Amino acid sequence: MTDPTEYVDAHCHLDLFPDPAALVRRIDERRVHTIAVTNAPSVFGHTERLAASSRYVRAAAGLHPELVATHGGELDQLWPCLERTRYVGEVGLDFSTNDAALRTRQRTVFEKILERCAAFRDKTITVHSRRASSDTIDTIGERFPGKVILHWFTGSRREVERAARLGLYFSINPAMVNSQKGRELVDAMPRDRVLTESDGPFVKLGPQPADPTSAPIVLNYLARTWHLEVEQVARAVLANLERSVQREV
Ligand SMILES: [Zn+2]
Repeated sequence: MTDPTEYVDAHCHLDLFPDPAALVRRIDERRVHTIAVTNAPSVFGHTERLAASSRYVRAAAGLHPELVATHGGELDQLWPCLERTRYVGEVGLDFSTNDAALRTRQRTVFEKILERCAAFRDKTITVHSRRASSDTIDTIGERFPGKVILHWFTGSRREVERAARLGLYFSINPAMVNSQKGRELVDAMPRDRVLTESDGPFVKLGPQPADPTSAPIVLNYLARTWHLEVEQVARAVLANLERSVQREV
């Protein structure tokens, strides 16, 4: 049977799967529009080549906040990558570290990345904000000229509302809909700002990593809470993705 539905995975670490090329084939078969994030500029080329072979995979250039300590020196290598893709990630802040100097360094790196992205006006950025939700929203600010997707957001309901007012998007993974707190936040997100993500291979479904083909898990949850058919939710999420990658005018 063919599945007519197209899906969305707005945050997947394609390059960290054991056989990325095989996963790309499954993504294309299942028609999952996938933003393949990368954690350091030195590995972007690999994902860029994988994306070139696919209709559905888009390569994102990033520098993960948890790698700023070890790979922060690669920041200058990020700038030429930004000329080659409109997708950026994984970037952001991770304040699970108590090291004040490292937090400051993360913030400086994130600010520089946002500043460079702002000049293009057409970037879609997938952002990490663990234990730093408020700081992350403040750093993005009110006037960022581009689209921002808060991935696996774990802040408060008030912060969800604030981010929504600023026009930010949220990408939701199976781990979020499998936790009480995650569901409370998801329920506070405006329907026109919601995307699906796997964050595979970090998010697990039992022993297996979630991957782009896991999108129906989140869609099923949204269909139940929104009182819609799964296909209607899938179309809404796809429309949200299209808006989240449109150029600012
Ligand atoms: Zn991630």
